[in-house]
Amino acid sequence: MRLSQGQLTLLEYCPRRFQHSILESLSVPSSPTLLAAQQWGDRFHLLMQQREMGLPIAPVLAHDDELQTCVSRLQAAAPDLFDSTDESWRQSEHERSFVLNGYWFTVVYDLLRQWGTASSPSDRAEIIDWKTYLKPRTAKFLRQEWQTRLYLYSLVETTDYCPEQISMTYWFVRVTDPAAPQPTPQKICLPYSEQAHQATHRQLTQLTQQLTALLEVGMPFPQLPIDSPKCTDCPFAVRCQRGLAHSAEAEELPAWEAISEIAL
Ligand code: SF4
Repeated sequence: MRLSQGQLTLLEYCPRRFQHSILESLSVPSSPTLLAAQQWGDRFHLLMQQREMGLPIAPVLAHDDELQTCVSRLQAAAPDLFDSTDESWRQSEHERSFVLNGYWFTVVYDLLRQWGTASSPSDRAEIIDWKTYLKPRTAKFLRQEWQTRLYLYSLVETTDYCPEQISMTYWFVRVTDPAAPQPTPQKICLPYSEQAHQATHRQLTQLTQQLTALLEVGMPFPQLPIDSPKCTDCPFAVRCQRGLAHSAEAEELPAWEAISEIAL
């Protein structure tokens, strides 16, 4: 079975939510605002990939003022990001995979940069990730994200790098400063360590063992306690009889599974 950082996040959040979202493929419709933000993010990622491949990006930028502004502001804020002179290697959309506990993990880095010499080709590496949220996250928040943990872990597990030789940098390219009329790109750089690597290894081992045990027992996967605050905003709250659906008024609703099929 393949697992991604998003699936690890869901499993850690709530096994029942993992069941609904991943094993049963129940999708939740996105709001128009979220959908528009995702589409803008996709365009930005595609543009940066095209640029790394040496393809012309001017025709794309000519039709999107905000994209053009964000790219030029990023180039002005971080010229070294676009200068590969000192690097030994770099690649966008770089994929790496490994197997742990019988699960197949794949990560795709937005950009991977490496530095080294002929005698020491793997001195240092940096994973770059483009974020197109309107507000940046904190370093503390990002360090806990499965994306950070899995991306850094993968690079060490699939190369000769030791943890202290690698880092991950998030670039928030669409952030606006209330005092400035233009987007103000911000970065958060997260170093890595042997201690963090061992911690991620333990967490991955525990979570995959938990998933194996759950799959052996079969569905339904466990729910969170009835008063869990995590259920309040969960899209499966009604299905689970949780959150607002658990209020006195809603308690009279029958369980989802008990509703008879309606003939059309
Ligand atoms: S409502 Fe609660 S128990 Fe049900 S899937 Fe969501 S988080 Fe899990």
